[in-house]
Amino acid sequence: MRTSTALYPFDVVGDESAADSVAALGVDEVSLAAAYHAVRAVTPRHPVHHVVTAENSAVYFPPEASRWSGLGLRPRRAEGEGVRDSFGPALAALRGAGLGVNAWIVLAHSCGLGGEQAASHVENAFGDRYPWALCIAQPEVREYAATLAGEVAARFDLDGVELEACGWYGYDHLSAHDKTHPEMLGEVDRYLLALCFCRSCRGAYGSHGIDADRLRSLVQDAVRAGGSATADGRGEAVTPRAAEEVGRRLGGDLADELLRTRLDLADELRRAVVQAVRESARGRDLTIWLHAQVSPHGVGGNVGVDALRALDDVDGLLYGVPAEPSAEIAQVVDATAGRPGRRVGVVVDVLGTPRDDGEELDAVVAGAASAGATDLHLYHAGLASDRGRRVLAGLVESFGD
Ligand SMILES: [Zn+2]
Repeated sequence: MRTSTALYPFDVVGDESAADSVAALGVDEVSLAAAYHAVRAVTPRHPVHHVVTAENSAVYFPPEASRWSGLGLRPRRAEGEGVRDSFGPALAALRGAGLGVNAWIVLAHSCGLGGEQAASHVENAFGDRYPWALCIAQPEVREYAATLAGEVAARFDLDGVELEACGWYGYDHLSAHDKTHPEMLGEVDRYLLALCFCRSCRGAYGSHGIDADRLRSLVQDAVRAGGSATADGRGEAVTPRAAEEVGRRLGGDLADELLRTRLDLADELRRAVVQAVRESARGRDLTIWLHAQVSPHGVGGNVGVDALRALDDVDGLLYGVPAEPSAEIAQVVDATAGRPGRRVGVVVDVLGTPRDDGEELDAVVAGAASAGATDLHLYHAGLASDRGRRVLAGLVESFGD
């Protein structure tokens, strides 16, 4: 498998040994954050800082004013010594160490952006707005996402781009102050609370024959009735059992049409973003990856997709930490067989392995490889401790090309 690892630009800038030490892990490529959500990250081996905090979504390069003039939503520029404008220098250092580089671009997950324009955010059935989630049905959000991805592709010498949250974002949002327990909200509630009722979404429902007011009232009743709590409470994923439960609560036909509407809107966003990247690439051969999950209902950084539809636009699907990688990857590989050039990658997290030697991860990766995964993405060389890096390098040695 071709191998890559995630990295923040501030892992590299200010640390002269960083690029070589990542190259020594044996990976082929790095996914380097160019536009990222709010974060508090430990940088365990950086000589200057140890914790980097970005309170808002930000870009790690200076945006060109001409691209953004007249647009309602604009990216913030990351702040701080060694953080501000760190993408370009980090990219150059990694290239200098012989690594391929993909730009990691987070789109609809957007903390603090549009605060002055709350109408850009997802609005749930109760009218509550989510300042961390942009509603992708809105034209200005699509324009923002496409402009951002296009700018990154145009301005930097890249091997590819990796699109995260290029689709629906919802209730779940890793937050240090979260007061949500799985017993309060199960996966069905989380799906229902991800449904948006902003003006654009209500319009989209109407054009798909859905009565938005009736849907809103059904969703409110279903959330208030509760009782969908699940033991696992796994954030982004919507299991087939939960999808069935949504159908029971809303009515099967309505639930199906709702899903179709939302997938159509997500297709529209993805196509706008991919078109902007391809146009910006101007003949350069950029690989476009989409962070995805198997469940079409799924929302979050790994968006729920119909794999065949997504592969009409992107080159590869990157499945984030699947519950059962071999089964889920096999399902996608089977569904997309015959698509020339398509790639299916699996993300494996080396930050918290139950055993020091990573033996259990060996089995996970072996399962994904035998199911037909073409790429192995190891999360995350910057955040990993020395132990995590040893596990990472071991997996590259065992499964790399
Ligand atoms: Zn909306």
